[in-house]
Amino acid sequence: RALVAEKLAAVGTMAAGLSHEIRNPLNAASLQLTLLERRLRRLPADNQSPLIEPLSLVQQEIHRLKSIVDDFLAFARPRQLNLTSVDLAAVAATVLDLFAAQAEQAGVRLERDFVAIPRVDGDAGQLQQAVTNLVLNALQATPTGGWVRMEVGEQSGAAFLAVEDSGPGISPKVRPHLFEPFFTTKDSGSGLGLPMVHSVVLQHAGTIFMEEGRVGGARFVMKIPFGFHT
Ligand code: ADP
Repeated sequence: RALVAEKLAAVGTMAAGLSHEIRNPLNAASLQLTLLERRLRRLPADNQSPLIEPLSLVQQEIHRLKSIVDDFLAFARPRQLNLTSVDLAAVAATVLDLFAAQAEQAGVRLERDFVAIPRVDGDAGQLQQAVTNLVLNALQATPTGGWVRMEVGEQSGAAFLAVEDSGPGISPKVRPHLFEPFFTTKDSGSGLGLPMVHSVVLQHAGTIFMEEGRVGGARFVMKIPFGFHT
């Protein structure tokens, strides 16, 4: 924890200085490309595609850079908790709804097993972002024909939310690094998804751990105690 906190502090300072410096020129570049694309589309059709293809590729890459910067900010920006009374099952349902189209396209079934539980004191927006990161990872890990399952329930005085998938699971070599900032095994990963989840859960005085699911996939369980701030 001390190590992670130290890394967090360093990353936070860097983020404050760099994020806007990077974001602004990216936005400007993207805007110019959109202009260029509009002008190209006025050319005769035959001349368009060899010019527009590389341009779309550059747009895509800019998009990727933007989302990395956004991930970075979501993770590193010092956050104040905006505490309200949160229905965790409603947060979970919203996230599943947001991913419905993406899951369908990937041929992955989204399952839910929600039990009615008391509300938790928390920041609904940040909890939603944390759950989003878990579901996104689960979907990315799950091959076509598989499933991602979300559970919400109550266990020994805490609300729990689990996201399990039927993907390949996480090897013992990777496990110790899961919550380290910038650790990723993906080509275009930022390695900031799980550290962000970890920091949100810690701010809610909760815990998060990973275990093996019933068919060998990953199962992430976060627990948020009821009424922690009173
Ligand atoms: P990123 O998704 O950008 O790589 P994360 O911090 O969210 O960053 O995840 C770190 C790493 O943890 C991933 O690169 C992947 O190797 C592993 N991981 C996370 N969730 C899963 C999952 N559900 N199944 C398999 N591997 C996972």
